[in-house]
Amino acid sequence: MTKKRAVTFKPYNKTRYAYEKLRVCRHCQQFTVLWEDECSQCGKSTLVPVRQRVTSKVKRTMLNERLIALFIGLVAIYFGQTFLQMILSAAAAILLIALLWFVQRKMLPFEVPLEMETLFEQEQPRIIEDIKRNRKLAVAALKDDELLTYEMLREIATLVQNDKIRLQQVVLLQSFVLRKDMDLAIEPLLIDSFDTDLAAYIGEVAKVQRELIKNSSIRYILAYEAHILEMEHGIEILSSVAAAAIRLKKYVEAYPEFIRRYARNIPKDRFLRLYRMIQQHPDAYWGNLAEEVAIIRREQYEWDSDFQ
Ligand SMILES: [Zn+2]
Repeated sequence: MTKKRAVTFKPYNKTRYAYEKLRVCRHCQQFTVLWEDECSQCGKSTLVPVRQRVTSKVKRTMLNERLIALFIGLVAIYFGQTFLQMILSAAAAILLIALLWFVQRKMLPFEVPLEMETLFEQEQPRIIEDIKRNRKLAVAALKDDELLTYEMLREIATLVQNDKIRLQQVVLLQSFVLRKDMDLAIEPLLIDSFDTDLAAYIGEVAKVQRELIKNSSIRYILAYEAHILEMEHGIEILSSVAAAAIRLKKYVEAYPEFIRRYARNIPKDRFLRLYRMIQQHPDAYWGNLAEEVAIIRREQYEWDSDFQ
């Protein structure tokens, strides 16, 4: 195995909606999910978030509507027969514009998402093409920088979800030393089939960020347990996931057999937690786990004061 690199990820900005990551060039209309300052197509610093682009478009349409109202008002004033008619026309025009402005301001938060939807419908083929170009850029970066490639793929993955892009990220993550302070994830990277890199990655995350081990990762590991056991560090992977699952009682209750199988290999502090959990809840359903824990305690921690 190649030596793992110690790296620090660029801060990852999570957005509420994936499309908020998308920016568009005001000059050549190219889309991008990356963070470049200049458009990779035309070289100009004219990239703006799509939402901003759409908002200004909606505002421009609304301004045009107000201008039309103003024009109608002016025409009415112009054709007024008497001074009173002209005053009334002017008052009506002012009232109309004010009302329009008021309604438009209320409508803006609803108009923008609708306009966004239209844009995505119309531009979908082009957005896909441009993201493909982003991806080519990421693959080209791989020659000299795995970290940059990973960061690019992570951004692209917010808009494109498929197993290929998931696995590319996993493979790259496997070339880094994983730490507690890193912004890692498991669930978005899970695929349906078995993959040794993914299994190894889950095993490592289980050691550094236990809280990321949830139902879906435990189920993945369980589904491919036989395959993982054939791997060089297979038992280690399974044991770290079992140790991480002890974090919550609900996982121990949901997977008592799995935890039983690897209970002998988990570190002392984790085993102690499991032991105490079972002691505190003697009536919960533990299957054969309670018995196994009692045996391990007798064999390995008989004289250990922590277990008294
Ligand atoms: Zn451009």
